[in-house]
Amino acid sequence: MSSLDIPARRIRARFLVVDPWTIIEDGWITVTGTGVVRALGSVKANADKEGGYFDEEVDGVVAAAMVNAHCHAEFGAQAGKAPGAGDGLPGWVGRLLRIVADTSPDQRLGGMQRAAETLVKSGVGWVADINNSADSGPILEAAGLRGLVFHEIYDPAPRNAEELISQARSNTQHHSRAFESRVVPHTPHTCSKDMLLRLLKDAQEHAPISIHLAEGPAEIAFLTEAAGPWADRLPGIGWSPAIGVPGKRPIPWFDELGLLGPGLLAVHLVQATTDEAQLLADRRVRTVLCPSSNLHILDQLPNIGAMLEAGLQPGLGTDSPASHPDLNLRTDTKLISERFESVDTATLWAMATRWGAGALALDAAAGSLWPGRAPGLVALDCDPTEDPLQVLTREPERPLRRLVAPGPPPEEEQ
Ligand SMILES: [Zn+2]
Repeated sequence: MSSLDIPARRIRARFLVVDPWTIIEDGWITVTGTGVVRALGSVKANADKEGGYFDEEVDGVVAAAMVNAHCHAEFGAQAGKAPGAGDGLPGWVGRLLRIVADTSPDQRLGGMQRAAETLVKSGVGWVADINNSADSGPILEAAGLRGLVFHEIYDPAPRNAEELISQARSNTQHHSRAFESRVVPHTPHTCSKDMLLRLLKDAQEHAPISIHLAEGPAEIAFLTEAAGPWADRLPGIGWSPAIGVPGKRPIPWFDELGLLGPGLLAVHLVQATTDEAQLLADRRVRTVLCPSSNLHILDQLPNIGAMLEAGLQPGLGTDSPASHPDLNLRTDTKLISERFESVDTATLWAMATRWGAGALALDAAAGSLWPGRAPGLVALDCDPTEDPLQVLTREPERPLRRLVAPGPPPEEEQ
């Protein structure tokens, strides 16, 4: 049966948030049975053409489901168990991995399922999930999510990069239909230059490759001077002083290697300077920020003001359940609004939806309600006097509910 045969749903909303800059008061939207937006408009303007029947009337906001552009669902079992202790990423990762070592496969699976359910409950439709064994896709799909699985690999020693990559690619064969899998490098300091070049050099604009970049001060100390806590820890996974370091900060180093472009999805960027943010924007690098997680692990935030000024359009990710208070992206939009008062609510909602979809090159399907997309719809009750974007971005305690699940990839609708 063609999806065109499945009855469409017609929904009326007090505020239809088509995208962060297009809000229709007393709007309607028609969505096919598989979640594709067919048409939308203002009830008043279309009264004669479309008639007055609605399958559902929402006394509040209807918007596109959010896009969590960087998550690690596989650490769901460690939620709330890895406190920040002021010792940066190396110390935090050490604590996390000690807890992970005591986690059974069943606990890991249960944690992943809980994370997936929490994402759906918070109003997320799409997720880019980082996974060390490429097995989260079917679990996220079963919970009703869509997106990408980034299977991350690392090896700082210049050996067997090709073999490790082809092994990882063969492990991603059993991904789910709703989640395309890609093999990605972990960080600039845990991967050899050979591995970085093989995975990133020919990365495609339509299929960007993710990497944690310029996250903490320890990464900078290691890459520039082979100093700091990573210099003590990385020999444990194959690095040695004989291998050396680039002697440069990661963003200029990546530029020198020809790796900065729209095929690169740079995540975190807490250490990016104003000039580096401008360089990323000039090179059209895709970006994702995880402010709540950065605060938890590093007690630092990226310079979001400088990034927006430079013209970047960052998406948002929660990062792992072990470093986020509640795995709700609206906690991050609220945090940004408190720390960067000049960022307006439309920009905040863009970061949680349209820009997140753009960062993942999924904007033809996700992140806004424009016809032809299948973003998933969420709803939130509010008063006529309230500002819908204010409620969406600054009041995460008021729950979103899922109205329509994210739909199939657009090509299946043709
Ligand atoms: Zn991460």
